[in-house]
Amino acid sequence: MFKPKQVLFEKDALEYPLGKEIYDKFKKENIQIVKLNANRVPSIKSDDLKEKYSKAKQTLVIGVRRSFKFQTCKPSAHYQLPLVTGCMGQCEYCYLNTRFGNKPYIRTYVNVEEILNQAKKYIEKREGITIFEGAATSDPLPVEPYTHGLQKSIDYFSRIHNARFRFVTKYDNINSLLDLDHKGHTTIRFSLNTEKIIKNHEHFTSSAKNRIEAASKIYKAGYPLGFIIAPVFLYDGWKNEYRKLIEDISKAIEPNNSNDITFEVISHRYTLKAKEVITKIFPNTTLSMKEADRKFKYGQFGYGKYMYTKEQINEIEEFFTKEISRIFTDKSIKYII
Ligand code: SF4
Repeated sequence: MFKPKQVLFEKDALEYPLGKEIYDKFKKENIQIVKLNANRVPSIKSDDLKEKYSKAKQTLVIGVRRSFKFQTCKPSAHYQLPLVTGCMGQCEYCYLNTRFGNKPYIRTYVNVEEILNQAKKYIEKREGITIFEGAATSDPLPVEPYTHGLQKSIDYFSRIHNARFRFVTKYDNINSLLDLDHKGHTTIRFSLNTEKIIKNHEHFTSSAKNRIEAASKIYKAGYPLGFIIAPVFLYDGWKNEYRKLIEDISKAIEPNNSNDITFEVISHRYTLKAKEVITKIFPNTTLSMKEADRKFKYGQFGYGKYMYTKEQINEIEEFFTKEISRIFTDKSIKYII
């Protein structure tokens, strides 16, 4: 569970029952609380990215969501569901690291019902099923014990026939979600990697073992379940370790119908901008980022990424297709890139 060092309350957040509930909880736990006089949080004034990062990762902002324009979230969903932004985890390759502004705190909202009402408007505007992603700019599970935002969303989407909800996590505190009558409308995905990669690069997240145990409970509770194995790294013994990971998943889940578990596999890639940020925040990182070992590929937004070579990506594809289909089925593989 996330224990912030300090919690900032925007002025209006305390007008909401959930805001007061969260306030009382942190007060009891003697966590430093700052009541802001306005609905604006201060910037972190520092040129030292490492210091800024560390402060942001330990600060929780409790606010009121005012913008009801939801961002699109292609290709995995239609819209982002803005329950939380930021994350307590310190994964070296986190996509959030390059999106650092001057207020990079973990922020969550007390007006969850208003956010869900807005989702309804988007659903009504579209034909067919509308999908919302709850983890586009965060991992929402660490703050769930305070806000119950996922619980409320799962409950909300269970009552809507033409909408679906999904989120992905690297954490394991899912017990409060197990008894919900979700109607299969929420897909929960676990992002996984080998123990070696998690230990070296995914700081302050749950172990693979705990994530897999949580996934097993989620599957038994009847939720559609997915795994994102990412980022895949090629290192000495990678095949044995990723094979073991897939076998561990299978042993814990004991799938009764392998088709309803999905796998997404993404090989590691990085931009020079990401490398610059990572080496500033984690100066001792051992993350594999040597341009000479990679192939440069232009992206659609004008900047390029350093990927594994075509031959290496083929090898990754061949390996995961074989190993996943051996235990699950090839229908459970959504993509390997
Ligand atoms: S758990 Fe996910 S969102 Fe959090 S730091 Fe790691 S990669 Fe980023």
